[in-house]
Amino acid sequence: MSDRVSRRRFLGTVAATGAGAAAAATAKAAPVRPPGRHGQERVQKVATHCEMCFWRCGVIAEVSADGRVVRLEGNPDHPLTKGRLCARGNAGTSLLYDPDRLKYPMLRTGKRGEGQFKRITWDEALDVLADKLKTIKEQHGPEAVGFFPHGIGARFMGTLLKAYGTPNSVEPSFAQCRGPRDVGYLLTFGRPLGSPEPLDLEEAKLVVLIGSHLGENVFTSQITQFATGLSRGAKLVAVDPRFSTAASKADWWLPIKPGTDIALLLAWMNVLIAEGLYDKEYVDAHAVGFEELAAHVAAFTPEWAEPITALPASQIRETARAMGAAKPAVVVHPGRHVTWYGDDTQRARAMAILTALLGSYGRKGGLFFPTPVPKGDFELPDFPDSDKGRADGAGEKYPLASEEMGVTNGLVDATLSGKPYPIKAWIVYAQNVLESIPQPQQTLKAIESLDFLCVVDVMPVDQVAYADLVLPEATYLERYDAPLIVNSAKAPFVSVRQPVIEPLYESKPGWWIAKELAKRLGLEAFFPWATPEEHLEKTIEPMEINSLELRTKGAVAFAGRPYIEDRTEDDLPLFNTDSGKIELYSQALKDLGADPLPLYTPPEEPPAGYLRLIYGRAPMHSFARTQNNATLHGLMPENEVWLHTTPARELGLKDGDRVRLENADGVTSLPVRVRVTEGIRDDCAYMVHGFGQRSKSLRRARDRGASDTQLMTRVKVDPLMGGTGMRVNFVRPVKEA
Ligand code: SF4
Repeated sequence: MSDRVSRRRFLGTVAATGAGAAAAATAKAAPVRPPGRHGQERVQKVATHCEMCFWRCGVIAEVSADGRVVRLEGNPDHPLTKGRLCARGNAGTSLLYDPDRLKYPMLRTGKRGEGQFKRITWDEALDVLADKLKTIKEQHGPEAVGFFPHGIGARFMGTLLKAYGTPNSVEPSFAQCRGPRDVGYLLTFGRPLGSPEPLDLEEAKLVVLIGSHLGENVFTSQITQFATGLSRGAKLVAVDPRFSTAASKADWWLPIKPGTDIALLLAWMNVLIAEGLYDKEYVDAHAVGFEELAAHVAAFTPEWAEPITALPASQIRETARAMGAAKPAVVVHPGRHVTWYGDDTQRARAMAILTALLGSYGRKGGLFFPTPVPKGDFELPDFPDSDKGRADGAGEKYPLASEEMGVTNGLVDATLSGKPYPIKAWIVYAQNVLESIPQPQQTLKAIESLDFLCVVDVMPVDQVAYADLVLPEATYLERYDAPLIVNSAKAPFVSVRQPVIEPLYESKPGWWIAKELAKRLGLEAFFPWATPEEHLEKTIEPMEINSLELRTKGAVAFAGRPYIEDRTEDDLPLFNTDSGKIELYSQALKDLGADPLPLYTPPEEPPAGYLRLIYGRAPMHSFARTQNNATLHGLMPENEVWLHTTPARELGLKDGDRVRLENADGVTSLPVRVRVTEGIRDDCAYMVHGFGQRSKSLRRARDRGASDTQLMTRVKVDPLMGGTGMRVNFVRPVKEA
């Protein structure tokens, strides 16, 4: 971030590139290029979609005559991403040709963690896995197998394990990411937000970011729409304890005291209602519980919120009035990674209620409605019911947790405790559970207690060294996945992922692994298709599109019904709540014994001498997945820790010094460089997530920078949906000698 980059220049850059601070590496596709640019004639272009993060932008891959992928470009025909790729998307070939890739199936020969393996054949590997699954089923029941998937590549394995009989599938994208948000909006509007978030950023007159650092957190279409909106004159409120890239371009930067966002949201609602600035007509027509809400927020004035949030009451009032003036074209960005303080569902509820007061849901410039796309399905046998139920607490201990996505930390707890029943094996698919789930010390203990750990991945991520069996998955450029159907775009669409080249080494696509396992487990009936092309044909059958057209273009869009006035009889009721209306007051929460309206509860304060650890993203990295990528490593080889000048001075630290961070439980990070800045509150330390990985087989990423996850020895669990609040850890920098 540079304070010297003007708002105008930022907007121009982002509008042109769609990647904010990643501008240098982002470009709009040029449809025709002369051959021979890389010294090889390009003979083929293949459309697919990116998996360098989960946004799945449209890609055109260029393949040379000798079968090498020489270039990735944005697909100009893609309805959402329109020819743009970010730095990571452009670096997909560096994943494909990473020499550290997992290359063949491997069986552990040494102790867990030593990383000693022998190469085996796929037949041997699949026999080992199938035999293990059969034995566990006989001895403990199928529920004793836990599945940790990530991404659409894991869907076929998900089907297989459902057919096998385990309900224990858990994804960090729920309990460590967007779960509270989806639950909060589901309670309020009757549907979760989904991904991508249905935000009408291009048409917005005012955008509110609460802890969302767009520009550093880059998804090409969202950042492009955001920049377009700002360039058309939208105002920006950035609520963030750190002077993020977005904050540097904002009309109002609100450097809030961490953990007090609900107080700010309540005060904003207070002003909107007290000053009659809310959308009365919309609320009267579409919402229930306004009287209760008005009574609830009456005492939560900006003056009440000022000492809590450390924001001036005048600024709270001014920003509320700006929202009232811009309504309904206001996007209160719901955020994405929102598992912060354990009251996250209630914070999401407060954001949803604010959105409703502004009349912004289903309105131009606010949030829009999704439009379902019909999908063809094969007739499958019934999936078996589990007598034992889930082990992770979803639906019981955590009543509002998604049973589709589960509670990762709940399954880790069950593995450690053996309650409600023993968990004997995990299959971890395309994620680094030691980086994606907090309290990795507990996760490691759980892994060590397992009879069997199978890891399916492209790269030798941290837990591979602990695996009994390692299966090398083909990258997204070498495989088919299930077609992607996106309902939550203004124009919904279907997009294809298809192989650009044959899988390298002995890697295999997920669909093949699942089908081969199904044969060994007698579950072929759940895979009644011979080829992924046949699966694709069936899925798109009701869409009345031609599969050749889809495979050529990469994606096909359909007409959307984004705004209230576009909705048809088929879309009624507009809101799928019990009342059929927006529920400002939630009877569902009341019935669960929870607060039916959001309440502020103070967060724990840092102990003397400690700073609150906050964390975020950089535009050139995705989670902990890209740090070994040669191109992206070149752009950002390690992270740094942001410290305010005051604590830095007190500790005798200057820019560029190296420190270790020690948390309040005595856990210490790897050395990390200090960035001394006025652009962060003096009670916080900030790092980009995903660094400090320990796998010996990741030759570039290993031991570079510090891991925020390693320092997360404490969590505050959201009692409603089981998500782990992670901004509850405190660190002190200790200077390296
Ligand atoms: S935002 Fe970047 S990394 Fe993510 S899918 Fe798009 S191009 Fe790929």
